[in-house]
Amino acid sequence: MRLLNSTGIPAARYRAYRGEFDAAIAHVLRNGQFILGEQVLAFEREFARHLRAKHCVTVASGTDALELILRASGIGAGHAVLTVSHTAVATVAAIERAGAIPVLVDIDPATFTMDPGSLEQTIDEFTRRRRGPALRAVIPVHLYGHPADMPRINSIAKARGLLVFEDGAQSHDASLRQKRAGTWGDAAAFSFYPTKNLGGFGDGGAVVTNNGRLAEKIRRLREYGWKQRFVSSLPGLNSRLDELQAALLRVGLKHLPAENNHRREIAHRYDEGLASAAVVRPKAAPHAVHVFHQYVVRTERRHSLQTSLAARQIITQVHYPVPIHRQPAYVGRLYFSRAGLPQTEAAAREVLSLPMSPFLKVGEVEDVCSAVCSWRRTGKART
Ligand SMILES: *Cc1c(COP(=O)(O)O)cnc(C)c1O
Repeated sequence: MRLLNSTGIPAARYRAYRGEFDAAIAHVLRNGQFILGEQVLAFEREFARHLRAKHCVTVASGTDALELILRASGIGAGHAVLTVSHTAVATVAAIERAGAIPVLVDIDPATFTMDPGSLEQTIDEFTRRRRGPALRAVIPVHLYGHPADMPRINSIAKARGLLVFEDGAQSHDASLRQKRAGTWGDAAAFSFYPTKNLGGFGDGGAVVTNNGRLAEKIRRLREYGWKQRFVSSLPGLNSRLDELQAALLRVGLKHLPAENNHRREIAHRYDEGLASAAVVRPKAAPHAVHVFHQYVVRTERRHSLQTSLAARQIITQVHYPVPIHRQPAYVGRLYFSRAGLPQTEAAAREVLSLPMSPFLKVGEVEDVCSAVCSWRRTGKART
């Protein structure tokens, strides 16, 4: 038996609601409209309402959503944007694609999200020593399904006149103090990559915001800067969600709350089954609703644990083994504090994502738990 990791999610999701997906596809194909039609409009309305935000503008990917938020906010050459190094490379890539300079902040070791203390220190250092690019925005990432500390990040940003854009690609429906991740800042980017909590069957993304002017500008940017057909009022690009994906995502959105509940149930079983295991378990901050995009444990002997689980056909993943500032494309050229990024480095060495999917069965979770617990008891293969 190969235990389902996140790569198996789209196929399992199709099997689970096959009738609804097939009907959605047939409807779009019969309807004959494939770009920016009724399905996209309906999905945008439904996703915005679901998050209790005013506007949703769909685009071609989560990376594009981040880039377009920056561009529509007038952020580009000569500007710097703060984010974390413990994230998908897309977060940093989007900042550079907008023409701005990324500035990296360390993470909180308990939640793996942006550490407000490091944010403050990095802003102070950057502002003091740099004559070059001006800091304009902060992009906290709600990693693994856990919301970043938005109240503190917002107040630090506000005091310095910085905009706040959330990367919600891993946190559809996570919340903090009953308020959804993606509705705390000036705008948020979501991805609908197939393995995300709300995933399509191809690429897709969205911007969510309460700022009507920003939403309107992104609507133009995503289609050649058109104000009306064939009249470009802005230098834009082509970044659209298609009708098929929108129709499929409308089905997925209906099932998202139940899927996230099931993810939390699995996490709860992991918590119980791993209580005596030699790993650090993930923990939600007070007042946070964690949606467990990943269930991530920590151990200094990760390689040993991963190998031991693999020998039992339990496939785990590492998110992420190499922080952005150490990736070949970025090494030596990204700015971060003189204090370094020690919590980021430690996380990259120690994190391990156990199988997590809304389609995992209780028995499978128990198998993983007993494998992790027996790894500790035998204690063999020390690395
Ligand atoms: C997946 C992801 C993205 C990028 O989304 P794409 O749709 O693949 O472009 C950005 N940030 C984070 C944290 C992600 O997990």
